[in-house]
Amino acid sequence: MEWYIVYIVMSLLIIPCLILGSFSNARVNAVFDKSSKILSRKGITSCELAEQMLSHAGIDDVSIAEINGKLSDCYDSKHKVVKLSTSVIRSSSVAALGITAHEIGHAVQDHKKMWLFRFRQTFVPIVNLVSRAFVPLIVVGTLLSFAFYLPMVGNIICWISAGLYGLSFLFYLITLPLERDASKKALQLLEELNALDNDELYTAKAVLRTALYTYLSAFTISLVYFLKALSFAFMVAGERDR
Ligand SMILES: [Zn+2]
Repeated sequence: MEWYIVYIVMSLLIIPCLILGSFSNARVNAVFDKSSKILSRKGITSCELAEQMLSHAGIDDVSIAEINGKLSDCYDSKHKVVKLSTSVIRSSSVAALGITAHEIGHAVQDHKKMWLFRFRQTFVPIVNLVSRAFVPLIVVGTLLSFAFYLPMVGNIICWISAGLYGLSFLFYLITLPLERDASKKALQLLEELNALDNDELYTAKAVLRTALYTYLSAFTISLVYFLKALSFAFMVAGERDR
């Protein structure tokens, strides 16, 4: 197989993928801003909703905290904290309530000891490592392969880089069904607690669906980077054997 063709194609694909990624982020921001102006008729705030949802789900070991940044809301499973951003925590907008319910969805996944959720947690340090170590590894690998006449060592480093990128790809692959499930749980909880009217529920659903696209684009980008790193390792191996 001509790995250099795969390498060139993947290198070229990175550009449209990154454009798609920033487009999805801009779209999420736009949908969030628009539905942030729609206040729920029942007037419950995100913080109140989070408390109600946790007690409804029988979760008593998770706390709620405020976090800086826009759309930085997350569930921290290590410290068992639902972190809600400043623009969300005191808001009673449909968008804020939808996002809050989604993060509670992750707390429910953790509470129910969902194996996929636990499995993904083990990948977090690897993904952090990949984002920091990939470029130095590939540079060192290439230099050793071509410049310093240590092809074996260089090639091994390239394979390690490809392997790390493969694990990062796996992380984003696992993330997709988990995010979908958290949104499903969110809508279920919103319905069970009667926190939103039907038309508001529809808007919250649209916000969560748009947020899912950002994970879909992150997944695509990780796949392209993985194939690029893999084809690069094969290319270096081919050069070495020549
Ligand atoms: Zn999520």
